[in-house]
Parts: sequence; C-alpha cells; structure tokens
Amino acid sequence: LWNQVLELLESQLSRPTYEGWIKTVVADELTADRLTIRTPSLFAKNWLHKYYFQNITDAVTEILGYPVEVYIVAAPSGEPPSGQPDEDVTEDEGGQEGLLETAIANEAVQAMAASLPATNIQSDPQVENSHSSPRHNNLNPKYNFNRFVVGATNRMAHAAALAVSESPGREFNPLFLCGGVGLGKTHLMQAIAHYHLEIEPRARIAYVSTEQFTNDLIAAIRKDSMQRFRELYREIDMLIVDDIQFIEGKEYTQEEFFHTFNTLYEAGKQIVLASDRPPAQIPRLQERLCSRFSMGLIADIQVPDLETRMAILQKKAEYDNLKIPADVLHYIAASYTSNIRELEGALVRTVAYISISGLPMTVENVAPVLNPPKEPVEVSAEMVLSVVTEMLNIDLADLLGNSRRREISQARQYVMYLMRQHTNLSLPKIGEAVGGKDHTTVMYSCEKVAQLQSTDGDVAQLLRQLSDRIYFIAQSKN
Ligand code: ADP
Ligand code: MG
Repeated sequence: LWNQVLELLESQLSRPTYEGWIKTVVADELTADRLTIRTPSLFAKNWLHKYYFQNITDAVTEILGYPVEVYIVAAPSGEPPSGQPDEDVTEDEGGQEGLLETAIANEAVQAMAASLPATNIQSDPQVENSHSSPRHNNLNPKYNFNRFVVGATNRMAHAAALAVSESPGREFNPLFLCGGVGLGKTHLMQAIAHYHLEIEPRARIAYVSTEQFTNDLIAAIRKDSMQRFRELYREIDMLIVDDIQFIEGKEYTQEEFFHTFNTLYEAGKQIVLASDRPPAQIPRLQERLCSRFSMGLIADIQVPDLETRMAILQKKAEYDNLKIPADVLHYIAASYTSNIRELEGALVRTVAYISISGLPMTVENVAPVLNPPKEPVEVSAEMVLSVVTEMLNIDLADLLGNSRRREISQARQYVMYLMRQHTNLSLPKIGEAVGGKDHTTVMYSCEKVAQLQSTDGDVAQLLRQLSDRIYFIAQSKN
C-alpha cells in the first residue's frame, strides 16, 4: 500500500522533492482510520508536515479510496518514535535546535533550487560540463512506447509520435497533439523523448510544460540573462512543450515562444506540442502562433473504446505484476470511460482495497470502492429486460405474458422495480414495457419489491447484482 502511495507521490512531486523528502519515509501502522508514517529525522518530519502534509494525505486517500488521518512521526536514531499529534508541530519548535533546523532547511531549499536546471535539457554537453551533479529531468520512465496501448482512437497520434522520434524534423513539424484530460498526450510526448534518446543518446531534447517555459522566461528577465535563456532554448534538437493551451493570453511568453519556434523550425529541429484543444480553439492565442501550430500535423486523441480500456488495464496489471480476474478488469474498464488516469486510479484502488480487506477479488467486492462514474448512464427498458431474463434464466415471452407461475411473476416484479429505479419511464410506460400491465399493477409491484428488499437479504443481494449488471451493460453501450 505505502509503495503505491509513494509511486503516486513520485508522479506528482518534483524529483528532488521526492528523492529528498518522500522516498525515505516508511509506513508504520495502518489502522481503520489512521496511517502512521515515519521519517528518518525530526527535521524531515517537520519539513514534511509543513510543506507536503496535504500531498501525502491526498495520495493516501486516493489509494485507499477513503479518508484516513495521517500521522507523521520521526524516528531519530535510537529514540522511539515520538508519536505526538501533528498539531504539536509549529514553526518555532524548540529554541536552538529549531533555529538550526530552520537554517538547514533554508540551505536545503537553496541547494535544491541550485541543483534544478532551468529546463530539462537532456544530454546537453555544456550543462554536463558545467555541473558535476547528475542530470535531472522530469521525464517519467514509465511513459514510453512499450507501455502505450494503441487503439482506434489514438492510432494516428501514436504513429505520428513514432515517426517523429525516429526522424525528427521531417514529416510532421510541428506535431500538435490534442485531446482531453488523461488521454495520453503527456505519455506520448515523453515516449517521443525516450525513444529518440535511445536512437540518438546525445540528442538535446527539452521537455517542458508551458508553465516552466514561462517561469524560465521570467527568471531570465529578472536575472538579466535573456542571452542564456535564448541559447538554452534555441540550441536544442527537439523542443517538446506540454499543455501549450496555457500560453493563452500571456503576451510576452507568446512573443518569445514565437521566436524560439521560428529559430528551431528554420534549423529543421522538431517541435512537439500538446494541448487539450486544437490551436484554433485556444482563446487569446496570437494569430501567427496559431498558424505556426497548425503548419505540421494536428493529431487528436479521442476517448478510448472499451476494448482499448481493457488492454490498457491488462498492460498495467502485467507491468505491476497484478493478478486480476478478467471480469473485474472488465467491470473497471466499463465503469471508467472518459479518462485513462481515472481508469488506472480505479485499478490501483481496487488492488489496495482487496489487499487491505482480505476479500476475494470479485466484481461484487470491488464494486463499492469504485467511484460511480460522473456521467449518468442511460438505462433502457430493454437492458433491464435482457439482464433479468438472462440472469434468472426466464423466457422473455413468459415474462411479458400473463403467467402466474411464481418465478415468472416475481421476475416480472423485479423488472418493474428495476425499471422504476434505473430509467425515467413513467408507471404507465413501465406497464407497457412489460407486456401491457396496468399502472396500478406497476405501483403495487414496486412497493412489494421495495419491501422485500428491506426485509430479505437474499432478495436485496439479487437486486444488487441485477442492478450492477444493468449498469455494466449500460456503461459498455455508451
Ligand atoms: P494527458 O497528458 O492527455 O492528460 P497522460 O499522458 O498524463 O494524459 O495520461 C494519463 C495516464 O493514462 C498516464 O498514466 C498514462 O500512462 C496513461 N495512458 C494514457 N493513454 C495510454 C495508453 N494508450 N496506453 C497506456 N497508458 C495510457
Ligand atoms: Mg498531460
């Protein structure tokens, strides 16, 4: 569990932060409502508490799927963990020692800032020569082509990304990836960088967010080092800028970016951009930038279909060494339709929940931990009919007829009740859908089933299973 939290934090925080502060933390104890974690020193404890408490709490909550209180304790060598409540940690804790710690903290921040390159220029010989520290970058090693599942809705973007990393600056320049949140833009962009570096280890690739570009620019202006900024950004082999839609309205950044773009483009260097929408739909984007962005290939990524979502989950399970029954994977894939990050999050949560609860991994057990999807699903009368007849093994003609056989009339009542619950159909419409019954019959049936449900556990469970299945079918049809 804690390893999963660490993994999540690693993906959210900058590398120096993660390596310096988070990685060394171990989980101490997990009870129903509290997770205790242990830092190597009191200093680290205070630091984490002050700056990363929320990140940690959020990550733990996300992985567990329910909120717990996080307690940070310090384990200085030899001493038992202090175990004091978090509120005890204040800025001016302890005289001399506190001052010293503050001093160290400030230095640590400075050291960290200094070790961070302004950009993520890979293999830049100049940078390598001038700093003896290892190269930093914020490329996620997992975002490579091997882990990227190709489906109908991202095939073109994937093919273009591959072409660009094999022969940059040729066909698709710039490559403009667009698509909604969590659909794989960042993954593809970083895969381009990884793969190109494999082919061309000395290539100078800058992968930056638009925000980073802006921040670098501001820093350069402030430090009067525009010369250096321009060298850095214009003497690279490939420029990859993520979330370029955020350049919207930033006039000065747009101005500078325009020149960076032109310089690189004219030198035949590859430019890759990603945005949540096509250039023409980015508001307050200078006309000349919009036309530059549209000059190469605009490849869009759409929401993946069920089959692709299954394949993505399977691949992730494989890489993470997870054994998950196919029907559970299917259930998750059917429940999360529009965002791959959420889809993956659901898988992680499922695994965490199962390992904590000790329950067998079945659809029934994992269903409660999965967030209900945000978009309401359309359930039709036909779906209810087909699920009930199928699961209870009843002939549709019998159900729609007037048979008074107990199992049939009961199934018919379930159908009416479930239609009432899951569709917007009126009582008379439901009556029609079950072979022309009177609306008072429908009302009576619904009341009867509702009562049964609250008194008979077996009926309640059966209805839950029927509902899950209906939901599932409706999801996969959407
Ligand atoms: P975006 O940048 O479009 O918001 P990301 O690239 O961050 O989306 O993708 C979100 C998550 O989904 C990442 O963990 C990524 O690895 C995963 N992902 C997206 N598309 C795919 C895919 N086709 N195959 C495997 N994983 C994917
Ligand atoms: Mg992204």
